[in-house]
Amino acid sequence: MEILDNIPFPITTEEMLRRAHLTEADPETVTEVGELVEAAREVARPKACYDVAYVGEKTEATVTIGKTVFASRVLRVNLDSVERVFPYMATCGVELEEIKPTSQDMIVTYCLDIIKQASLSAATIHLQEHLTGKFALGQTSQMNPGSLEDWPITEQSKLFELLGNVEELAGVRLTDSCLMIPQKSVSGIIFPTEVKFQSCQLCPRSNCPSRSAPYNPQLSQAYRVGQ
Ligand code: SF4
Repeated sequence: MEILDNIPFPITTEEMLRRAHLTEADPETVTEVGELVEAAREVARPKACYDVAYVGEKTEATVTIGKTVFASRVLRVNLDSVERVFPYMATCGVELEEIKPTSQDMIVTYCLDIIKQASLSAATIHLQEHLTGKFALGQTSQMNPGSLEDWPITEQSKLFELLGNVEELAGVRLTDSCLMIPQKSVSGIIFPTEVKFQSCQLCPRSNCPSRSAPYNPQLSQAYRVGQ
């Protein structure tokens, strides 16, 4: 497993205020947000780790990657003609968990959440650029355990097993219910693809604020999701 832990995180107070829609905030709030950003810039260590793995045996609804058997028909179909994949984990970093806002102000707590999200984004973007450059990848897609009923969150422990000592190297641990701590972490499998795939295309959930692609019932049928 390779760890990327020297990832730039150049967030500024102005950027933070813009992201939090606080450009009109009162001077006291601006000062508090500025102090928070300074503290975050000092300690933040966004990180990502990944491995190179090869696709093995496939059944109707499972696919073996390395020595790990994943139970997901959608993942299996997506990897039909793929040989090499990149299991990964990216995180905002445990260091940001140590920052405790001095103020009980909800806005400051909210801003800390946005800072953690920005740190996670820095890690995922850096990882994608690293993989694209190092392995000369073209278009890629990814799947994440827990994003679809077809690939439940319980499969996260298999992904961590496949990656190896994630907690020791990147500080991210799994709870008994397979959630990652810090929460602003993401894991999944990146794979080369000719047609871009997004889990949201197969997810009928309405009013999801994080939806990144429209639900596509025909595509769901093609994957035979839930059958
Ligand atoms: S629509 Fe929302 S819940 Fe469904 S896969 Fe996309 S982000 Fe997840």
